[in-house]
Amino acid sequence: PSNPVINFGAGPAKLPREVLEEVKESLVDYEGTGISVMEMSHRSADYTKINNDTQSALKEILNIPDNYKILFLQGGGTGMFAAVAMNLIGRTGKADYVVTGSWSKKAAQEAEKYGKSTWNRDPEASYLYYCDNETVDGVEFNYIPDSQGVPLVSDMSSNFLSRKFDVSKFGVIIAGAQKNIGPAGITVVIVREDLLDYAMPITPTVFDFKVNAGQNSVNNTPPTFVVHVIQRVFAWIKRQGGLATMEQNALQKSTLLYQEIDNSDGFYQCPVEAGCRSRMNVPFKCKTPELDEQFLKDAKALNMIQLKGHRLVGGIRASIYNAVTINETITLVKFMKEFRHKHS
Ligand code: PMP
Repeated sequence: PSNPVINFGAGPAKLPREVLEEVKESLVDYEGTGISVMEMSHRSADYTKINNDTQSALKEILNIPDNYKILFLQGGGTGMFAAVAMNLIGRTGKADYVVTGSWSKKAAQEAEKYGKSTWNRDPEASYLYYCDNETVDGVEFNYIPDSQGVPLVSDMSSNFLSRKFDVSKFGVIIAGAQKNIGPAGITVVIVREDLLDYAMPITPTVFDFKVNAGQNSVNNTPPTFVVHVIQRVFAWIKRQGGLATMEQNALQKSTLLYQEIDNSDGFYQCPVEAGCRSRMNVPFKCKTPELDEQFLKDAKALNMIQLKGHRLVGGIRASIYNAVTINETITLVKFMKEFRHKHS
Protein backbone atom coordinates (compact mmCIF):
# COMPACT_ATOMS: atom_id res chain seq x y z
CA PRO A 1 0.00 0.00 0.00
CA SER A 2 1.26 3.49 -0.79
CA ASN A 3 2.07 5.96 1.95
CA PRO A 4 -0.69 8.33 3.04
CA VAL A 5 -0.26 11.86 1.74
CA ILE A 6 1.35 14.27 4.19
CA ASN A 7 0.78 17.91 3.35
CA PHE A 8 3.48 20.34 4.48
CA GLY A 9 2.09 23.24 2.43
CA ALA A 10 2.52 26.82 3.64
CA GLY A 11 -1.00 27.86 2.71
CA PRO A 12 -3.58 26.97 1.71
CA ALA A 13 -2.51 24.30 4.12
CA LYS A 14 -3.65 21.06 5.68
CA LEU A 15 -6.95 21.11 7.55
CA PRO A 16 -7.75 18.59 10.29
CA ARG A 17 -9.03 15.40 8.64
CA GLU A 18 -11.85 15.21 11.20
CA VAL A 19 -13.10 18.62 10.10
CA LEU A 20 -13.06 17.61 6.43
CA GLU A 21 -15.10 14.51 7.25
CA GLU A 22 -17.63 16.58 9.20
CA VAL A 23 -17.94 19.11 6.41
CA LYS A 24 -18.48 16.28 3.93
CA GLU A 25 -21.50 15.30 6.01
CA SER A 26 -22.92 18.80 6.13
CA LEU A 27 -22.08 19.64 2.53
CA VAL A 28 -25.51 18.94 1.02
CA ASP A 29 -27.71 19.14 4.10
CA TYR A 30 -26.72 21.42 6.95
CA GLU A 31 -28.16 20.03 10.17
CA GLY A 32 -31.46 18.98 8.67
CA THR A 33 -32.21 22.29 6.97
CA GLY A 34 -32.26 20.44 3.64
CA ILE A 35 -29.80 22.89 2.11
CA SER A 36 -26.10 23.56 2.24
CA VAL A 37 -24.65 26.56 4.08
CA MET A 38 -23.58 27.65 0.58
CA GLU A 39 -27.22 28.05 -0.38
CA MET A 40 -28.38 29.97 2.68
CA SER A 41 -29.01 33.67 2.98
CA HIS A 42 -26.31 35.37 5.00
CA ARG A 43 -29.19 37.08 6.86
CA SER A 44 -31.02 33.85 7.73
CA ALA A 45 -31.37 32.71 11.33
CA ASP A 46 -29.26 29.63 10.56
CA TYR A 47 -26.34 31.62 9.18
CA THR A 48 -26.62 34.26 11.92
CA LYS A 49 -26.15 31.47 14.41
CA ILE A 50 -23.13 30.09 12.55
CA ASN A 51 -21.60 33.58 12.40
CA ASN A 52 -22.24 34.32 16.09
CA ASP A 53 -21.17 30.89 17.33
CA THR A 54 -17.94 31.07 15.34
CA GLN A 55 -17.12 34.45 16.87
CA SER A 56 -17.97 33.19 20.37
CA ALA A 57 -15.74 30.16 19.92
CA LEU A 58 -12.81 32.37 18.92
CA LYS A 59 -13.49 34.69 21.83
CA GLU A 60 -13.36 31.73 24.18
CA ILE A 61 -10.28 30.10 22.63
CA LEU A 62 -8.25 33.34 22.72
CA ASN A 63 -9.88 34.86 25.79
CA ILE A 64 -10.65 38.04 23.84
CA PRO A 65 -11.72 40.95 26.11
CA ASP A 66 -15.18 42.53 25.67
CA ASN A 67 -13.82 45.79 24.24
CA TYR A 68 -12.69 44.04 21.05
CA LYS A 69 -14.68 43.31 17.90
CA ILE A 70 -14.13 40.20 15.80
CA LEU A 71 -14.56 40.74 12.05
CA PHE A 72 -14.61 38.23 9.20
CA LEU A 73 -13.52 40.16 6.12
CA GLN A 74 -12.54 39.32 2.56
CA GLY A 75 -9.51 40.49 0.64
CA GLY A 76 -6.98 38.20 2.31
CA GLY A 77 -3.93 39.24 4.25
CA THR A 78 -3.02 41.51 1.36
CA GLY A 79 -6.38 43.26 1.52
CA MET A 80 -5.84 43.84 5.22
CA PHE A 81 -2.43 45.45 4.58
CA ALA A 82 -4.39 48.25 2.91
CA ALA A 83 -7.31 48.08 5.34
CA VAL A 84 -5.08 48.48 8.41
CA ALA A 85 -3.52 51.61 6.98
CA MET A 86 -6.82 53.07 5.75
CA ASN A 87 -8.57 52.47 9.06
CA LEU A 88 -5.81 53.61 11.38
CA ILE A 89 -3.20 55.86 9.77
CA GLY A 90 -5.61 58.79 9.78
CA ARG A 91 -5.10 59.22 13.52
CA THR A 92 -1.74 61.00 13.11
CA GLY A 93 -0.95 60.50 9.42
CA LYS A 94 2.02 58.22 10.05
CA ALA A 95 2.78 54.69 11.16
CA ASP A 96 5.82 52.59 12.09
CA TYR A 97 6.60 49.26 10.44
CA VAL A 98 8.99 46.63 11.76
CA VAL A 99 10.26 44.84 8.66
CA THR A 100 11.44 41.33 9.47
CA GLY A 101 10.68 39.58 6.19
CA SER A 102 8.77 39.65 2.95
CA TRP A 103 5.23 39.98 4.35
CA SER A 104 5.93 42.91 6.65
CA LYS A 105 7.80 44.54 3.78
CA LYS A 106 4.74 44.21 1.58
CA ALA A 107 2.53 45.62 4.34
CA ALA A 108 4.83 48.64 4.77
CA GLN A 109 4.86 49.27 1.01
CA GLU A 110 1.07 49.17 0.92
CA ALA A 111 0.80 51.61 3.84
CA GLU A 112 2.99 54.11 1.98
CA LYS A 113 0.00 54.78 -0.28
CA TYR A 114 -2.04 56.15 2.61
CA GLY A 115 0.42 57.91 4.88
CA LYS A 116 4.01 58.07 5.95
CA SER A 117 5.47 54.77 7.13
CA THR A 118 8.81 54.85 8.92
CA TRP A 119 11.22 52.23 10.23
CA ASN A 120 12.31 54.36 13.17
CA ARG A 121 10.14 54.42 16.25
CA ASP A 122 7.99 57.54 16.36
CA PRO A 123 5.93 58.25 19.49
CA GLU A 124 3.42 60.05 17.25
CA ALA A 125 2.82 57.01 15.06
CA SER A 126 -0.81 55.98 14.59
CA TYR A 127 0.31 52.42 15.23
CA LEU A 128 3.30 50.10 15.33
CA TYR A 129 3.00 47.22 12.87
CA TYR A 130 4.83 43.92 12.84
CA CYS A 131 4.41 40.42 11.42
CA ASP A 132 4.41 37.84 14.22
CA ASN A 133 5.49 35.03 11.92
CA GLU A 134 7.13 35.55 8.55
CA THR A 135 5.85 32.59 6.52
CA VAL A 136 8.43 32.82 3.73
CA ASP A 137 11.50 33.49 5.84
CA GLY A 138 10.66 31.32 8.86
CA VAL A 139 11.14 34.13 11.36
CA GLU A 140 8.86 34.35 14.40
CA PHE A 141 8.64 36.69 17.38
CA ASN A 142 8.84 34.84 20.67
CA TYR A 143 7.68 37.91 22.60
CA ILE A 144 5.22 40.76 22.15
CA PRO A 145 7.09 43.98 21.31
CA ASP A 146 6.63 46.88 23.71
CA SER A 147 5.02 49.64 21.66
CA GLN A 148 5.18 52.17 24.51
CA GLY A 149 1.59 53.26 24.32
CA VAL A 150 1.33 53.28 20.52
CA PRO A 151 -1.41 50.89 19.33
CA LEU A 152 0.19 47.62 18.32
CA VAL A 153 -0.90 45.93 15.07
CA SER A 154 0.16 42.41 14.22
CA ASP A 155 -0.15 40.15 11.19
CA MET A 156 -0.59 36.69 12.71
CA SER A 157 -1.70 35.00 9.50
CA SER A 158 0.69 32.09 9.81
CA ASN A 159 0.92 31.47 13.57
CA PHE A 160 -2.56 32.44 14.79
CA LEU A 161 -4.02 29.93 17.28
CA SER A 162 -0.68 28.17 17.74
CA ARG A 163 -0.15 29.59 21.23
CA LYS A 164 -1.81 31.64 23.94
CA PHE A 165 -1.18 35.37 24.01
CA ASP A 166 -2.59 38.45 25.66
CA VAL A 167 -4.98 40.05 23.17
CA SER A 168 -5.26 43.17 25.34
CA LYS A 169 -1.71 44.13 24.31
CA PHE A 170 -2.94 44.74 20.74
CA GLY A 171 -4.87 47.39 18.88
CA VAL A 172 -5.52 45.22 15.83
CA ILE A 173 -4.70 41.63 14.91
CA ILE A 174 -5.13 40.33 11.36
CA ALA A 175 -4.98 36.67 10.34
CA GLY A 176 -5.71 35.15 6.95
CA ALA A 177 -7.63 31.90 7.31
CA GLN A 178 -5.75 29.57 5.00
CA LYS A 179 -3.18 28.27 7.50
CA ASN A 180 -4.50 27.62 11.01
CA ILE A 181 -8.11 28.83 10.67
CA GLY A 182 -9.77 27.23 7.65
CA PRO A 183 -10.07 27.58 3.89
CA ALA A 184 -8.96 30.75 2.09
CA GLY A 185 -11.59 33.47 1.75
CA ILE A 186 -11.80 35.02 5.22
CA THR A 187 -9.37 37.18 7.12
CA VAL A 188 -10.03 37.38 10.83
CA VAL A 189 -9.61 40.89 12.21
CA ILE A 190 -9.66 41.57 15.94
CA VAL A 191 -9.91 45.27 16.62
CA ARG A 192 -10.04 47.31 19.83
CA GLU A 193 -13.22 49.40 19.82
CA ASP A 194 -11.55 52.76 20.47
CA LEU A 195 -9.66 52.37 17.16
CA LEU A 196 -12.82 52.25 15.07
CA ASP A 197 -13.05 55.99 14.56
CA TYR A 198 -10.09 56.83 12.34
CA ALA A 199 -10.97 55.47 8.89
CA MET A 200 -9.94 57.69 5.98
CA PRO A 201 -12.96 58.97 4.02
CA ILE A 202 -11.76 57.07 0.94
CA THR A 203 -11.83 53.72 2.77
CA PRO A 204 -13.91 51.26 0.73
CA THR A 205 -16.97 50.17 2.68
CA VAL A 206 -15.97 46.50 2.48
CA PHE A 207 -12.71 47.35 4.28
CA ASP A 208 -14.16 49.79 6.81
CA PHE A 209 -13.71 48.18 10.23
CA LYS A 210 -16.40 50.30 11.87
CA VAL A 211 -19.04 49.56 9.25
CA ASN A 212 -18.28 45.84 9.40
CA ALA A 213 -18.22 45.83 13.20
CA GLY A 214 -21.60 47.58 13.26
CA GLN A 215 -23.03 45.04 10.79
CA ASN A 216 -21.59 41.93 12.46
CA SER A 217 -19.53 41.22 9.29
CA VAL A 218 -22.63 40.84 7.10
CA ASN A 219 -22.65 44.34 5.61
CA ASN A 220 -22.24 42.51 2.32
CA THR A 221 -22.29 38.81 1.47
CA PRO A 222 -19.49 36.95 3.27
CA PRO A 223 -18.12 33.56 2.10
CA THR A 224 -20.66 31.79 4.30
CA PHE A 225 -19.40 28.26 3.68
CA VAL A 226 -15.88 29.25 4.68
CA VAL A 227 -17.23 30.54 8.00
CA HIS A 228 -19.01 27.21 8.49
CA VAL A 229 -15.72 25.34 8.03
CA ILE A 230 -13.96 27.77 10.37
CA GLN A 231 -16.56 27.07 13.03
CA ARG A 232 -15.69 23.36 12.76
CA VAL A 233 -11.95 24.10 12.99
CA PHE A 234 -12.49 26.14 16.16
CA ALA A 235 -14.55 23.29 17.65
CA TRP A 236 -11.70 20.90 16.74
CA ILE A 237 -9.17 23.13 18.52
CA LYS A 238 -11.34 23.13 21.63
CA ARG A 239 -11.69 19.33 21.53
CA GLN A 240 -7.91 18.97 21.29
CA GLY A 241 -7.46 20.96 24.49
CA GLY A 242 -7.30 24.48 23.11
CA LEU A 243 -4.24 26.62 22.61
CA ALA A 244 -2.25 24.87 25.33
CA THR A 245 -2.26 21.71 23.19
CA MET A 246 -1.59 23.63 19.96
CA GLU A 247 1.40 25.30 21.61
CA GLN A 248 2.81 22.10 23.03
CA ASN A 249 2.51 20.33 19.68
CA ALA A 250 4.04 23.24 17.77
CA LEU A 251 7.04 23.23 20.06
CA GLN A 252 7.49 19.48 19.80
CA LYS A 253 7.15 19.37 16.00
CA SER A 254 9.45 22.31 15.32
CA THR A 255 12.06 21.06 17.79
CA LEU A 256 12.17 17.69 16.02
CA LEU A 257 12.89 19.40 12.70
CA TYR A 258 15.42 21.94 13.96
CA GLN A 259 17.27 19.21 15.87
CA GLU A 260 17.68 17.15 12.72
CA ILE A 261 18.90 20.25 10.84
CA ASP A 262 21.33 21.28 13.58
CA ASN A 263 22.66 17.75 14.09
CA SER A 264 23.31 17.16 10.40
CA ASP A 265 26.92 18.42 10.31
CA GLY A 266 25.95 21.08 7.83
CA PHE A 267 24.15 18.73 5.46
CA TYR A 268 20.98 20.73 6.14
CA GLN A 269 21.18 24.45 6.83
CA CYS A 270 18.57 26.79 8.26
CA PRO A 271 19.36 30.46 7.63
CA VAL A 272 17.42 31.69 10.70
CA GLU A 273 19.12 32.40 14.00
CA ALA A 274 18.00 30.03 16.76
CA GLY A 275 16.31 32.72 18.87
CA CYS A 276 13.80 33.73 16.21
CA ARG A 277 13.08 30.50 14.39
CA SER A 278 9.47 29.88 13.46
CA ARG A 279 7.51 27.05 15.06
CA MET A 280 5.24 27.00 11.98
CA ASN A 281 7.45 27.31 8.88
CA VAL A 282 10.85 25.62 8.88
CA PRO A 283 12.96 26.72 5.89
CA PHE A 284 16.16 24.86 5.12
CA LYS A 285 18.55 23.95 2.34
CA CYS A 286 20.73 20.98 1.51
CA LYS A 287 24.39 21.50 0.62
CA THR A 288 23.64 21.99 -3.08
CA PRO A 289 20.59 23.04 -5.13
CA GLU A 290 20.82 19.65 -6.88
CA LEU A 291 20.35 17.91 -3.54
CA ASP A 292 17.37 20.18 -2.76
CA GLU A 293 15.79 19.03 -6.02
CA GLN A 294 16.49 15.39 -5.24
CA PHE A 295 15.11 15.84 -1.71
CA LEU A 296 11.84 17.27 -3.01
CA LYS A 297 11.57 14.54 -5.61
CA ASP A 298 12.24 11.70 -3.15
CA ALA A 299 9.88 13.22 -0.57
CA LYS A 300 7.16 13.47 -3.18
CA ALA A 301 7.66 9.83 -4.17
CA LEU A 302 6.87 9.04 -0.51
CA ASN A 303 3.77 11.28 -0.68
CA MET A 304 5.26 14.11 1.39
CA ILE A 305 4.08 17.10 -0.59
CA GLN A 306 4.24 20.90 -0.87
CA LEU A 307 7.72 21.06 0.66
CA LYS A 308 9.22 23.40 -1.92
CA GLY A 309 10.56 26.66 -0.50
CA HIS A 310 8.88 29.93 -1.46
CA ARG A 311 9.89 31.13 -4.91
CA LEU A 312 11.64 34.17 -3.35
CA VAL A 313 14.05 32.06 -1.29
CA GLY A 314 14.13 28.59 -2.87
CA GLY A 315 15.24 25.49 -0.99
CA ILE A 316 12.84 23.52 1.16
CA ARG A 317 10.19 24.66 3.63
CA ALA A 318 8.25 22.39 5.95
CA SER A 319 5.13 24.10 7.24
CA ILE A 320 3.79 22.40 10.33
CA TYR A 321 0.57 24.16 11.20
CA ASN A 322 -1.88 22.92 13.83
CA ALA A 323 -3.39 20.23 11.61
CA VAL A 324 -0.05 18.55 10.85
CA THR A 325 0.39 15.78 13.40
CA ILE A 326 3.43 14.88 15.47
CA ASN A 327 3.57 11.50 13.72
CA GLU A 328 3.57 13.15 10.31
CA THR A 329 6.46 15.33 11.44
CA ILE A 330 8.34 12.29 12.72
CA THR A 331 7.88 10.65 9.31
CA LEU A 332 9.50 13.68 7.66
CA VAL A 333 12.39 13.72 10.14
CA LYS A 334 13.02 10.01 9.52
CA PHE A 335 13.12 10.66 5.79
CA MET A 336 15.53 13.58 6.34
CA LYS A 337 17.89 11.31 8.27
CA GLU A 338 17.78 8.59 5.61
CA PHE A 339 18.31 11.10 2.83
CA ARG A 340 21.28 12.60 4.66
CA HIS A 341 22.93 9.23 5.26
CA LYS A 342 22.44 8.25 1.65
CA HIS A 343 24.01 11.47 0.32
CA SER A 344 26.68 12.27 2.93
N1 PMP B 1 0.71 37.71 5.76
C1 PMP B 1 1.33 36.52 5.94
C2 PMP B 1 2.13 36.30 7.18
C3 PMP B 1 1.22 35.52 4.96
O1 PMP B 1 1.81 34.35 5.13
C4 PMP B 1 0.46 35.79 3.80
C5 PMP B 1 0.29 34.77 2.69
N2 PMP B 1 0.24 33.51 2.99
C6 PMP B 1 -0.15 37.03 3.66
C7 PMP B 1 0.00 37.96 4.66
C8 PMP B 1 -0.96 37.37 2.43
O2 PMP B 1 -2.13 36.68 2.46
P1 PMP B 1 -3.11 36.62 1.19
O3 PMP B 1 -2.46 35.73 0.19
O4 PMP B 1 -4.36 36.03 1.79
O5 PMP B 1 -3.29 38.00 0.70
